[in-house]
Amino acid sequence: MNELLVVKNLKKYFKTKFGLVKAVDGITFHINEGETFALVGESGSGKSTTGHMIVGMYAPTSGEIYYKMNNISVHASKRPKNITREIQVVFQDPASSLNPSRYIKDIIGTPLKVYNLIRNSTEVEQKVADLLENVELPPELYMYRKPRELGGGELQAIAIARALSTNPKLIILDEPTSALDVITQAKIINLLLNLQKKHNLTYLFITHDLAVVRNIASRVAVMYLGKIVETAPTIELFNHCRHPYSMMLFSSIPVISEDEKNLKPKKITSIGEIPSSLSIPPGCRFHTRCPYAEARCKVEEPSLKHINSGHIVACHLAE
Ligand code: SF4
Repeated sequence: MNELLVVKNLKKYFKTKFGLVKAVDGITFHINEGETFALVGESGSGKSTTGHMIVGMYAPTSGEIYYKMNNISVHASKRPKNITREIQVVFQDPASSLNPSRYIKDIIGTPLKVYNLIRNSTEVEQKVADLLENVELPPELYMYRKPRELGGGELQAIAIARALSTNPKLIILDEPTSALDVITQAKIINLLLNLQKKHNLTYLFITHDLAVVRNIASRVAVMYLGKIVETAPTIELFNHCRHPYSMMLFSSIPVISEDEKNLKPKKITSIGEIPSSLSIPPGCRFHTRCPYAEARCKVEEPSLKHINSGHIVACHLAE
């Protein structure tokens, strides 16, 4: 499989008046062309900051991002235009990412003009109509409406149509279903899966919702306090996760059958809340919440180790 995106030892630190926030603290992964790679973890794990660096909203503090083997470890304004065109993003809350007072035609049409993908206004209208059809919204009903007149699922479909307008290869999906009810979530997930097949898209799916990950991702990386603690193919991770933090996340997913219940890891109850990124614990950064922590976990940071094909874990006990 071709590696479309490679991330190496990526870091993003923010200076604040309270101190240095280590939002992303040295992560490495790759995404193959045509796959869906999920980044999961609680709020504050650094997954969204990672997505924002890939799309170019922030330049990294250090480390590298390679897209089709081009080093793009800079802000989007310094990247070649053909690369910014190919990497698009869909945010969690379409109501705040779409201008409420503009017509849908103009919202979807703007990127077409920015990237010179149309020659005249007739072409804009035709192309926007095609994109609306692509996301299963009848153009005659939506072209001249405004975001404030629409519901959450319709808005997210329009945000997806806008992302598709530039013919992207990689789409960062940053919690795209978190603000939606369960039925609308399922519709958006089905839409994303259909579009992926139709356009050979590659997705980076960022979420805290593991039930959604099971239906969409081929591989998953679990993040905790700015680090990746476990990576594996989705089925392997759901059936045999090895890091206590992953076990904690996976054991709390609702199941619908006895078979699924039997496959779930033993229930792990962690102690307390995720610490602040301003004061990351020494040693294993999960030790303050880990029920299996030993003396060395408090002083010695575990490195990522391969335990079998494609399955990597950072835990002293998993070794
Ligand atoms: Fe828990 Fe120690 Fe493993 Fe960290 S290294 S997850 S504290 S057992």
